[in-house]
Amino acid sequence: MKALKDRIIKDGKCFPGGILKVDSFINHQMDASLMRSMAVEFVRRFASARINKIITVEASGIAPAIMVGNLLELPVVFAKKKKPSTMEHMLCTTIHSFTKGKDYTVCVSQEYLGPEDRVLFIDDFLANGNAALGILDLVKQAGASLEGMGFLIEKSFQNGGNELRRMGIHVESLAIVDSLDNCTIQLHD
Ligand code: 5GP
Repeated sequence: MKALKDRIIKDGKCFPGGILKVDSFINHQMDASLMRSMAVEFVRRFASARINKIITVEASGIAPAIMVGNLLELPVVFAKKKKPSTMEHMLCTTIHSFTKGKDYTVCVSQEYLGPEDRVLFIDDFLANGNAALGILDLVKQAGASLEGMGFLIEKSFQNGGNELRRMGIHVESLAIVDSLDNCTIQLHD
């Protein structure tokens, strides 16, 4: 998606270890117009999918997910990063965080994810695919079905995209970063 790619080149910043910071328009300050345009693009790319719910992980997936939910007029559920003591009938899974280098638990209530749900997972970044695989585990535990996964930015030099596509999942990424070597952002055409 050209608008996102242009913005990454203009405002994205490389950090050691293959991390791209997009804090000025996605991860800290957010560009709501760009966020909306990205959601419109997801709606176009998943037009043939039979979705009845959007799912994401807090916190950075919530903004793009709610934009998609708004356009499709569908509910948006986010997996919570702390086990809430008051949540009943929870499903939980463990995810390894690429950026923080540690494991964390995410939970979703069975009240909001069940066998009747056909979900689209939306997140900001796809790196090694751990967050995506964690959500897939929750979807399976709930007896729900996964219709697709949409990412704002995929880093193709990490393995998540390959793995998810190999599993037959419909994956859409709005911008693909091929390399961050030498702190130069190289985007896929
Ligand atoms: P994965 O689980 O695919 O390894 O990593 C995806 C998650 O880690 C995303 O939810 C995102 O929050 C974070 N992440 C991975 N790589 C990057 C990156 O280069 N920049 C930022 N800002 N977040 C990242």
